[in-house]
Amino acid sequence: MRFADVIGNAEVARTLANMADSGRVAHAMLMYENEGCGALALALAYVQYLNCSNPSGGDSCGECPSCRQMSKLIHPDVHFVFPVNKGPKTSDDKPTSESYIKYWRELAVADPYFTESDLQKAIGIESKNGLIAVAEAKSIINKLSLTAVGDGYKAVIFYLPEKMNQETANRLLKMVEEPPVQTLFIFITHAPEKVLQTIFSRCQSVRVMPLTKEEAARVNALKPQSEDSDADVFQELFYDLMNSIVSRDLMAALECGEAIAALDSREKQKAFCAYAGDCMRKIFMIQQNMPQIAGVEDAEQEFYASLAQKCGKEFCSKSMTNIEKVVAMIDRNVNSKILFCDLINRMFLSI
Ligand SMILES: [Zn+2]
Repeated sequence: MRFADVIGNAEVARTLANMADSGRVAHAMLMYENEGCGALALALAYVQYLNCSNPSGGDSCGECPSCRQMSKLIHPDVHFVFPVNKGPKTSDDKPTSESYIKYWRELAVADPYFTESDLQKAIGIESKNGLIAVAEAKSIINKLSLTAVGDGYKAVIFYLPEKMNQETANRLLKMVEEPPVQTLFIFITHAPEKVLQTIFSRCQSVRVMPLTKEEAARVNALKPQSEDSDADVFQELFYDLMNSIVSRDLMAALECGEAIAALDSREKQKAFCAYAGDCMRKIFMIQQNMPQIAGVEDAEQEFYASLAQKCGKEFCSKSMTNIEKVVAMIDRNVNSKILFCDLINRMFLSI
């Protein structure tokens, strides 16, 4: 991927190209993005630029052997780490990213803006939490101890370091602190507050900005369109839920809660929470007389305007806090039926 192919974040792309040009390449970098905003695309373009044998105009050529290997994610000096778990697509008892690398490549080549839940689906662990376990640290240390195949940089692109436990971090720490020559670590996080401090503090951080509506639409156009996408399912659940709450139908609201708890993975339940949090923000903005930044699609104007009228002034902020608590509890494996039932009761009472 060339910088020119990255959607949005032109300024971040320029900063990365300048870093490469000036030779001030950070050995450890933490890119922080809201899910799906292109941090992986930027990281890939950056590494491709660093290793391109014929760069010009602040971008890679896209045609040299190194660029061609990068475009298929098969560059021998570029490694990927991402959260995994045991699953039907590997027979490894202690799987690492290597066990699933084929599926990672297919996914990231087709759509580098994928979400965590897309990744889980691609590697067949929808119903489990992905983790970066200590076997992964051993595998990375082994790979980096080998001599580089090319004469460029060796790189480890580390997707979601917040899924790494303390033991894995401890193993990697020395390598991150004092990497072998011409080696760089790029961490991509959606939750910088959850990245272990020992790792975080050794990284130069880069903020990847949210995409504009127009950029997000271009990203969406890259995605394989399924008839019943998650967004459609979430939208319907949210509509039903809010309609039952404002019409004071507790039984119907609780049924929506059960339907949310029955979404087929924890990641999907969390994705619904993120969606509902966004919707609450929209209602809140309209209530604050800032509809222009609420970002409501034309087709949904009426629905949101009516909710903004019917919901009390504190409903949205309380709901957002409660939704965040649910996300934290899902991470702690608390029973989701209980969580969503409780959330809906709270929303019902605070309307
Ligand atoms: Zn090139």
